[in-house]
Amino acid sequence: MDIQAIDSQYILPTYARADVEFVKGDNATLFDSNGKKYIDFTSGIGVVSVGHANKRVADALCEQVRNITHISNLYYIAPQALAAQKVVQTSGYDMACFFANSGAEANEGAIKIARKHGERDGEIKRYKIITLNHSFHGRTITTVKATGQEAMHNYFGPFPDGFVYADGIDEIENLLDDHTAGVMIELIQGEGGVEPQDKAKVQALAKLLKEKEIPLIVDEVQTGCYRIGEFSASQAYGIEPEIITLAKGVGGGVPVGIVMTTLKEVLQAGDHGSTFGGNYLSSRAVCEVVDILNELKNDGTLDATSEYFNGALEKFYQNHTDIFTQKVGIGMMCGLRVKDGDTLTNIINEARKNGVMVLKAGRNTLRFLPPLTITKEEIDAGFEALSCAVTEC
Ligand SMILES: *Cc1c(COP(=O)(O)O)cnc(C)c1O
Repeated sequence: MDIQAIDSQYILPTYARADVEFVKGDNATLFDSNGKKYIDFTSGIGVVSVGHANKRVADALCEQVRNITHISNLYYIAPQALAAQKVVQTSGYDMACFFANSGAEANEGAIKIARKHGERDGEIKRYKIITLNHSFHGRTITTVKATGQEAMHNYFGPFPDGFVYADGIDEIENLLDDHTAGVMIELIQGEGGVEPQDKAKVQALAKLLKEKEIPLIVDEVQTGCYRIGEFSASQAYGIEPEIITLAKGVGGGVPVGIVMTTLKEVLQAGDHGSTFGGNYLSSRAVCEVVDILNELKNDGTLDATSEYFNGALEKFYQNHTDIFTQKVGIGMMCGLRVKDGDTLTNIINEARKNGVMVLKAGRNTLRFLPPLTITKEEIDAGFEALSCAVTEC
């Protein structure tokens, strides 16, 4: 079977796919259709947080689908309630959840909450959502407009009104007005190029917005679920946002998006919904993933892995300062700035040929989002392969 031929005939060409087909995974190790082995420093763009083919997740999901997979949100769904309880208790915030199926959809939910909250007094209609330039919030018509990248607004209009872009955290204050419904930011811009925000500036913004009663929405689709060391980046930044969105890593590979908010009463029955959101399958995955990562956090493994990974990355960086100019990121969301964009594409291709998967972010950042369960042996093997790859670049 020529999968590439079938793909190009029957799949819309929205992705520039690399020339590889994976057939099996085992933690941070992948095998392609030719039996070649790779170390995965991507975890499917921060999704496979507990590793490929995680046995605990596989067992939980198998047990679940043999009992019941889906019933709709017309009825109580025990794993959904339990997943929400786990996520909220782990986060430490006094919030409640809505379950969706993707990051974009979680952000749509967040925007709906902020806008309905903005209509609370009837007279003033607060509808504006301020986001940052170079942000990424998703691919639906609304979230693509929320994304502060002009190039992504070339087609598909007219878009929903009311998105305003700030050039940085500093500029947000100047853009606030009587019609501002919310401010949505990533604490570390992921797709934008692994760009952490300044902690003091974020704390000052959070304080200002609290005074003005404007909800702060933190898009933690990429930073959430222990990616940067704490369950949420908001915890790590010491802020208390009104709304947090999660997706990617929180399902460990099963599609799920979560909106968590302190604004528990804003959306009422009929205001929002989802056919699939929070069904038995995805909720069960969330329960198992969060349990696994809580255990790894509590016994010190998670922090030790992050430290080891960052040590190895730093060493790799120091050995190749001819190619890279800076190490960036927090926890296991990290990157290396590359001198030029062409070299970056070469490195990614050479890395794959040498058996290690890495990502691009922004124009000039080599991005690393390994599974949070990656072993020391996998880390060592990955950087060895990457060193070979860059010396050939
Ligand atoms: C990936 C990502 C999204 C979009 O998530 P999808 O599941 O692809 O819709 C939104 N925000 C951030 C910060 C992301 O990294």
